[in-house]
Amino acid sequence: MIKLPVAFKENIVAQLGAESHEMLDAISSTASPVSIRINSKKLKHLPKLEAVPWCKDAFYLPQRPLFTQDPLIHAGAYYVQEASSMLLDTVLRQILSEEPVKMLDVCAAPGGKSTLIASVLPEGSILVANEVIKSRSNILLEILQKWSADNTIVTSNDPSQLGKLTAFFDCILVDAPCSGEGLFRKDPESCNQWSEEAVHLCMQRQKRILADVWQALSEGGYLIYSTCTYNSSENEEIMQWVCETLGAEEIKIKVHPEWGFTQGNPYGLHAFPHKVKGEGFYIALLQKTATNHPSKYSNRFSKNLNQVPKEKISALKNILPNLLFSEYRNKIVAYTHDFKEVLSYLDQNLYIQEAGLSVGTFIHNELIPEHALALSNHLQVGTFPNILLSHKESLHYLRKDVLHPQSNTNGWHLVQFNGIGLGWMKQLQGRSNNAYPKNWRIQMEIKQVEEENLFSLGRFI
Ligand code: SAM
Repeated sequence: MIKLPVAFKENIVAQLGAESHEMLDAISSTASPVSIRINSKKLKHLPKLEAVPWCKDAFYLPQRPLFTQDPLIHAGAYYVQEASSMLLDTVLRQILSEEPVKMLDVCAAPGGKSTLIASVLPEGSILVANEVIKSRSNILLEILQKWSADNTIVTSNDPSQLGKLTAFFDCILVDAPCSGEGLFRKDPESCNQWSEEAVHLCMQRQKRILADVWQALSEGGYLIYSTCTYNSSENEEIMQWVCETLGAEEIKIKVHPEWGFTQGNPYGLHAFPHKVKGEGFYIALLQKTATNHPSKYSNRFSKNLNQVPKEKISALKNILPNLLFSEYRNKIVAYTHDFKEVLSYLDQNLYIQEAGLSVGTFIHNELIPEHALALSNHLQVGTFPNILLSHKESLHYLRKDVLHPQSNTNGWHLVQFNGIGLGWMKQLQGRSNNAYPKNWRIQMEIKQVEEENLFSLGRFI
């Protein structure tokens, strides 16, 4: 039984009236559902599990397994994501057409919503995934590389710097830092951090973030705002403030009544855990009405961005046949549609952590591949020799243990589990070097566990 803060309970009673008992009971005495979203570009078959109805390729698991044991999660074949927050999928599908867009995810780490956005955006779109806290932007980059998200630029900037890109984006998501009331059930410890003062501070910060990025949204562009909290000071009141002060109007999100979402008062939608199979969540959709004239891109090209020498292009085309290439900060990067101009502009205005697919660098004529290349959906089958690992061997690989695979060829090998890339291994005269990134390695002990007792989502497919 979770001990909920008294003032929080009083607020819920004021907000929900007679329904509040059911709602508070659901928080304190029912289990949190476990849900995942599949990367359908990596997993060709969907699991036989109960679907999350408001999000494509999303499913509930009967209980929480030890996800670290599953090489498929490290390969980016799926992402563990709270079900209510997947309503973003419905919102995006309501506003997007086949026209490519430029979208900004302002508060993006660890990256659940960015991976969802990357799966939904029309071809040729560009996603800027930003996280102000540097250590968290590394995690964001890891998640997006595993997902093999196309045409994505990971940045680490304060919202005020993003706001300088006048009228640049067609759509902005602010998944705001909040008081986290919606997570009390999943993480009872978080009740101890909650206070009315914290709610007030969150509200001020949310307004600051929105005001800071507002200039970057084009006139007629969409703002999607979400939190994982229930109180109206961080939700409806913020939306009212944006409409009245910054200039926007609400677009109603179309949902099926049987999904259980509750209309906000009057803005947005709430997920309450006694009605929706998920945690507490709030989401609203606004369209900008204030006028906003885009500033012209500078025609000065960024010094960091260069053409790839012609003789290298054919080698690169063998590996990644459908992509375009640039040299960015002395590394080859690839993308599905030409985004040189956008990258050049952003490079002169923001702190860019990574842009596009990092392919590698040439040393003499040898391509030293980046880890992201092993995880890419675009990597042509057969261009690197494979090393196929069993479940247990994959976990040793992910721990960065020394492995002795059977291969007579020297050079870079693509390590795979169930046909999906996990990373690189370099073979040299009978010795093999496990090139899995040090910062990503798993700590788990695996010696004692029998292979058939290890969890993998593959079991449900
Ligand atoms: N969108 C993420 C996802 O789906 O995985 C979760 C985002 S979390 C709710 C909010 C994020 O906002 C955190 O990563 C936090 O570091 C970041 N943040 C905190 N203070 C911020 C600020 N003043 N401006 C912008 N972002 C901030």
